Amino acid sequence: MRTVFSRLFLALALSATIVAPSVAVQESRRQDPTVYGTKTGSKYHADGCRYLRSSKIAMKLSEAKKRGLTACSKCRPGKE
Ligand SMILES: [Zn+2]
Repeated sequence: MRTVFSRLFLALALSATIVAPSVAVQESRRQDPTVYGTKTGSKYHADGCRYLRSSKIAMKLSEAKKRGLTACSKCRPGKE
């Protein structure tokens, strides 16, 4: 009687359980760069935009969207 196959099966089963984990940590890496709003405008801007001369309020892109701001068409924040 040979037990080669049962040993092979056991080896495969073991390696399968070892390889399985380590896939979990990759969810929350979405891009959320810092953008700049102004006191009065309804747009958010990239750093250095000329519309930021009067006021410049730093916030995260997700924050700006939450406030209902839209991307400035001149400096195109978040679209490098
Ligand atoms: Zn701008």
